[in-house]
Amino acid sequence: MKYAMLGMLLGCGLSLCLDFGPLAVAGDANSVDASIRRLISAVDSERMSKHVFYLAKDPLPYRKLNLTLPGHEKNTLYETDDYLTGKLESWGYRVEREGVQVQAFRRDTSKRKQEQYSPPKPEDPWYTAYNLYAEKKGRSHPDRIIVVLAHKDSPSWIDSPGAYDNAIGTAGVLEMARVLAQYNCESTIRFLWCNEEHTPWTSKTAAQKAKARGDHIVAVFNLDAIGGKPAEQTAAGKKINVTAYTKPEGKRLAELMSEVNTRYSIGLEQRMVERQQPGDDDGSFVLAGYPAAVINIGSWPYGDPNYHAEGDIPEGCDIKNAAMTVQATLAAIVTLDREL
Ligand SMILES: [Zn+2]
Repeated sequence: MKYAMLGMLLGCGLSLCLDFGPLAVAGDANSVDASIRRLISAVDSERMSKHVFYLAKDPLPYRKLNLTLPGHEKNTLYETDDYLTGKLESWGYRVEREGVQVQAFRRDTSKRKQEQYSPPKPEDPWYTAYNLYAEKKGRSHPDRIIVVLAHKDSPSWIDSPGAYDNAIGTAGVLEMARVLAQYNCESTIRFLWCNEEHTPWTSKTAAQKAKARGDHIVAVFNLDAIGGKPAEQTAAGKKINVTAYTKPEGKRLAELMSEVNTRYSIGLEQRMVERQQPGDDDGSFVLAGYPAAVINIGSWPYGDPNYHAEGDIPEGCDIKNAAMTVQATLAAIVTLDREL
């Protein structure tokens, strides 16, 4: 009965669907293709731009636990959490918060600008940072989980707005959640906003708890600094995405990014690289035992001249590039969702 209804929703006749069975319906190439094209075309770079300016300029210049704006009750990272939660709830999601104890990094000005974060001292204050989760339950394979994540905090040791790092990935995952709100997924799609500019990284808790629960995570896409690249490449109008993987299972996801970029004429210069060791928030999942984890990023090695500096502002972001990366990631996720 469930499968017959699924067939009717997809617009084919009842007897035809009963003949083909559920897997053929879920994976029907033409309907999958059509739904992916529809979803891609719904990605709105204007909306992403509004999120980035809201989260990295006005009203929130930063997103950190150790900075509360004058006259405000909550710190700027908690205000970020409220903003994301409000958007997600307006699209029908229930948002779950997972608290993790963290500290701000100290700053070591003897190091180069990009690497001035340094370990906190034990007496430095502790804060509760939250992982935010929103989820779409899969209707035929709810136990099969695809994770798409972004760290939402800005550098805790310096006053950098972190527009590329990582208001833009935060906005990208938010836009994916909006576009997928009405999509009927077969697998479960889990959206996660974590924190990587305070210590320890809260993606470690997210990944370790998933493993302890026995979650069957088949893919992890980390969106961090999407579209961020050297100034001359931005000036030349280049639209680039690099998918970096650690394990063979991640390489398969990188190949899929390349396939969908071509199949749906997204127009990215799409590259893949192998990381020498697990890193960033995708690395937290690799280390917890989920090898199918990758990062999508605008350059490798990362080439934004304002990386971890005060000049990482929304006006410097190539939002069109970032939106194309969101389109490709969305296409990869839906392809995986239907690949049963
Ligand atoms: Zn960073």
